[in-house]
Amino acid sequence: MAVPSLRGCATLRAVHERYLAIDLGASRLAAGVVGADGTVLVRDRVATPARHVWPTLVRLIRRVLAAAPPDEPPTACGVSCPGPIDRATGTFTPAQVSAWAGFPLRAELESVTGLPVSIELPGRALALGERWCGAAEHVRDVVAISVGDVVDAGIVVGGRLLDGRAGNVGQIGHLMVEPDGRVCTCGAYGCLDAYASASAIESDTNRPLARTPVAIVERTGIMLARSIASLAAMVDPSLVLVAGSVPAAFGAPLFEALERELEQRMRLPHLAGLSVVPIAGAAGGPLVAAAAVARADPAPDG
Ligand SMILES: [Zn+2]
Repeated sequence: MAVPSLRGCATLRAVHERYLAIDLGASRLAAGVVGADGTVLVRDRVATPARHVWPTLVRLIRRVLAAAPPDEPPTACGVSCPGPIDRATGTFTPAQVSAWAGFPLRAELESVTGLPVSIELPGRALALGERWCGAAEHVRDVVAISVGDVVDAGIVVGGRLLDGRAGNVGQIGHLMVEPDGRVCTCGAYGCLDAYASASAIESDTNRPLARTPVAIVERTGIMLARSIASLAAMVDPSLVLVAGSVPAAFGAPLFEALERELEQRMRLPHLAGLSVVPIAGAAGGPLVAAAAVARADPAPDG
């Protein structure tokens, strides 16, 4: 399993620039301070509480900032959070954290931290992070898929992260992988998210991810392969990266099932050399991805 190095990251900005990085999910909240070379200097996290999520996050942020080296405080804040995001207002509406529907995340974080804040979807943040100092450095055409609380992708074509009309390109979790299949949080049937997201799998098995039966692990790989085959035919990438809590928990059996299914589903000759690479377990991955969001600013946030 390839694990990207966090060394040697491109440092186009000031060497001493530091980023406050925040990774939000339905199961955990993480924050850290990341250096200009992608090194995670401080990190902390808590389980996402059922109530009072915002006060919990504010305490976490203050703890991280207090632990950061005082001589060079962060100058920008990047956030990876489940979508959809409304970039005009800086709000987000994660389906799995109902208390945050329409929450003005960007404005509230700017008020708490005093920093410019950029928010981004998990897959898009992953793509930015991997392009900055991970497995996609110097790769012009890449799809980065985050398989965690939600399934989400960042799509880079010709070296540019695709945005779309509302900046929500890459919600691969809502590609249909099973006609008349399981109902999705979006209301449609057969979406990838209903088979491969951590929450869907845990509610299906009534077990933690680490104790998922092999048949469900293999089904997850099959469904991921179907979505990757469809997306690859459309986008023509040279590399597909798969990261997140689900591949980290499932490991090799997931990717073996994925590769078997891909052989059947992806028959276009020009896609024969496509690399699908797991990057589960990369140290600091989600926080580096969030820092990359701050670094990539100006994003289409306003
Ligand atoms: Zn859906």
